[in-house]
Amino acid sequence: MLEHVTEADGVLLDIVYATDRVFTGRAVYTRPVALLLPEAKALLALAVGMAAALGLRLRIFDAYRPIEAQWALWNAATDKRFVSDPRKGGIHPRGAAVDLTLVDADGAELDMGCGFDDFTARAAHGCLEISIEAQRNRAILLGIMTAAGWDHYRLEWWHYQLFDCRRYPPLSASAVPEGPM
Ligand SMILES: [Zn+2]
Repeated sequence: MLEHVTEADGVLLDIVYATDRVFTGRAVYTRPVALLLPEAKALLALAVGMAAALGLRLRIFDAYRPIEAQWALWNAATDKRFVSDPRKGGIHPRGAAVDLTLVDADGAELDMGCGFDDFTARAAHGCLEISIEAQRNRAILLGIMTAAGWDHYRLEWWHYQLFDCRRYPPLSASAVPEGPM
């Protein structure tokens, strides 16, 4: 069963895919909630603690997404490297991935060089075409998440997932607390 991650867990939520700010132009699910497997929630808690020690917080853009949402993203994405194939179950539909950034003590997002879901080469870890400050901020996020036990995706600075995440099955609406999203 998926579990809610809320502000009570020390994170901030900006669930972009439940808004019209998603790159498809309209929400791909309706409830602005962050849901993760218990294993993933536990690793996120470690990351929250490490960020807090630096005076920072994590802001979540997306966590679990229903497979129907994965299809909507897949169908809209022109570059399929940036959306996992729903025919293979995707990654987020397993509750094993989270998209997020770092926020400072004033609630301002740290400069990451490009925005969430900027599907260009600038989104890749190791991109040297962004400011030094942004490179440093990405390295802080990567360091925190890696030390907390997360795997990263080389092409997206915002995406983290459990190692060997395909051992977890894609989850249907029946795994969602309070029913479908
Ligand atoms: Zn992601």
